[in-house]
Amino acid sequence: MDLSLAIVAARLIDGASPAPLPSATVLIGKDGCIAAAGPADAVPVPQGVPTIQAAGKTLLPGLIDGHVHLAWNKTLYSANSSRDYTMRLRLGDPERQLLRAAHYAQMALAAGVTTVRDCGADDFTVLALRDAIASGDLVGPRILVCGRPITTTAGHIYSDWGVDSAEEIRKAVRILAAKGVDFIKLIVSGGTTTPGTNITQSQYTLEEVRAAVEDAHRLGLQVVGHAISTDSILLSAEAGLDTIEHCSWIGEDPKTTAPDKAAVELMVAKGVQVDHAIIPRPYLFPGESGVEPTAEEQWWLNMLKVRWPFLHYMRGQGVIVFLGTDAAFGPWPGTDCWPGAQEMARAIEVLVRWAEFTPLEALGMATREAARALRLEREIGTVEPGKRADLVLLAGDPLQDIRTLRRPEMVFRDGRLVARAGQIVLSGA
Ligand SMILES: [Zn+2]
Repeated sequence: MDLSLAIVAARLIDGASPAPLPSATVLIGKDGCIAAAGPADAVPVPQGVPTIQAAGKTLLPGLIDGHVHLAWNKTLYSANSSRDYTMRLRLGDPERQLLRAAHYAQMALAAGVTTVRDCGADDFTVLALRDAIASGDLVGPRILVCGRPITTTAGHIYSDWGVDSAEEIRKAVRILAAKGVDFIKLIVSGGTTTPGTNITQSQYTLEEVRAAVEDAHRLGLQVVGHAISTDSILLSAEAGLDTIEHCSWIGEDPKTTAPDKAAVELMVAKGVQVDHAIIPRPYLFPGESGVEPTAEEQWWLNMLKVRWPFLHYMRGQGVIVFLGTDAAFGPWPGTDCWPGAQEMARAIEVLVRWAEFTPLEALGMATREAARALRLEREIGTVEPGKRADLVLLAGDPLQDIRTLRRPEMVFRDGRLVARAGQIVLSGA
């Protein structure tokens, strides 16, 4: 095979082996795929192949963010009325949104995120971005996109497209499929950022969610459901949704949270996967963000401390849990915290620091498990021969200090160096 590059690193976290491989070599083919990966003494570098000697450094698969909103801005987290909400999200015309989305997609890529799943925008701008990147017009991450989420009139993230019956859901799925989306996003429950929606209840009936799943699957599309209340999670599991976003297990009293055993059993039986979407809010990094937690944030932190163990419970029962960040972009309002580049690294840190996962488990949820959930496991998620050469090179060892992830030294997509020290490397440059 024609090789384009070899990387010799102090350690390789390949995502498939139970432990990192010390002193490993990865050979990359001119087709952008991994030709070989393994211990340096078993994988010699053929003469004449350009080689990066990465002594002391760690190579791992490109990160996969299962839940972003490239065209939205973090002000959405502080929306205070449904009508304002739509106005705030838009922040300009579609052309400006598209340019901003392109900028943030590149920031994510430079931070080691080589694949993102865009879980909703106001319209279809991100489809154009996906296609521009795929055709090589722009350097960026691989993007899966749903366009507009399907929601009810006055429902969570409603703008002006209310979809209110099984028949309207089928029509909506077909409209989205005709637009060329990669998956369907269904807003099954209310949401905390849209005041007036009910976060303890489902917006749709079982029959309606089933209509979405049947029609989308017939068209070869996954259905990704926003579901935070326990009843909406149960209904999503019964209907056989592909992934449940957030899965917060909010009870009838919104101050209570606990997983439902029957729902978890259904999720396992039907292969429903969970993206908890760890939003790396500044208060989760005390002493760093320059802002002290407010009383409300302290309440949330205590709530999350109860909720995070549910991830261990679900995994223990056999549910695939993967990672997303719900990243909208720009800094957190009132701070300069991570305006697009560190969300994924920080979400992984939260899993390690607060949720008691090992660094290797957290990295697995951000790579291998996410690839499985996105049905891309044949292409990405691990460093193995035949997979796309999406790689991140870190200066140190993330298993010793997970914060090493915040600033990758190099990022490769499809075998090509696309970012170095946080800067995008332009195609042909
Ligand atoms: Zn979201």
